[in-house]
Amino acid sequence: MNTENLKTLYQKIVLEHSKHPRHFGELQDSTHIADRDNPLCGDHITVYAQVVEETIQQLQFAGVGCAICLASASMMTEELHGKSCQEAETLSRTFFSMLSLPVDPDSSEMIESLGTLNALGGVRRFPSRIQCARLAWETLGHALGWKE
Ligand code: ZN
Repeated sequence: MNTENLKTLYQKIVLEHSKHPRHFGELQDSTHIADRDNPLCGDHITVYAQVVEETIQQLQFAGVGCAICLASASMMTEELHGKSCQEAETLSRTFFSMLSLPVDPDSSEMIESLGTLNALGGVRRFPSRIQCARLAWETLGHALGWKE
């Protein structure tokens, strides 16, 4: 797939997730909850996790946010479902490094372990939106007690 097709595919993935967020809504059986704001954009996200024996059994989110924020939260709930807390933290750190890569906008920097999360890499061209993409993940990290 060439770079232009890949970009279009990525835009579709992000748009689709933002319009139809997965695992949206309060989780009754959650063991860990946190909420955070991104005042620069007006995003507000609450993350609900049900962790059993160090494994994320269920992961949901609620709140309001821009398309990037909602898409990132939605993709996070899909990616981390069933993962161990350690795997989730590792993936989160890889995701954050990918977002802060100083790459040329036209070169698509793929990070294999991130899979479809690479679709959010487009925000690198809009530094003020990086926090939108990070918000749900930071909120989960806060809920699960990851060190910042
Ligand atoms: Zn936002």
